[in-house]
Amino acid sequence: MQPKALIKDIMLVEDNKLNQRLMESSLKKFGFRIHVANNGQEAVEMYKKDPKRYDLIIMDIMMPVMDGFEATRHIRIHEQKIQNRVPIIALTANTFDADREKCLSQGMDEYIAKPLDMNKLTRAFHELGLTEK
Ligand SMILES: [Mg+2]
Repeated sequence: MQPKALIKDIMLVEDNKLNQRLMESSLKKFGFRIHVANNGQEAVEMYKKDPKRYDLIIMDIMMPVMDGFEATRHIRIHEQKIQNRVPIIALTANTFDADREKCLSQGMDEYIAKPLDMNKLTRAFHELGLTEK
């Protein structure tokens, strides 16, 4: 990734197995360590086990069991107890859930439309101050 990212551990939350594999492999090529969660509930459980492990969460919105908005709310509530904040980038499939304001009001920091590509991700990283200047 150019410019160089300042982070290493990314939690990728996505219910679609094919998307998971595609995103995981492209992110790994850039040297990130990827931790996959299959839905929002898994993401919250993984996060609570080791809240400071993840430098970034990339969160799909539409997922079974628990969606990305609810998972984000749980994570943000938990963070208040531990004084630590992880950036969350929403991954949106269509214009219905691509409403930036909704993502931001639910505690997400940025959003990118699917399909994920490294240009969009680089831009989001830059916005969040996760790349070298
Ligand atoms: Mg989904």
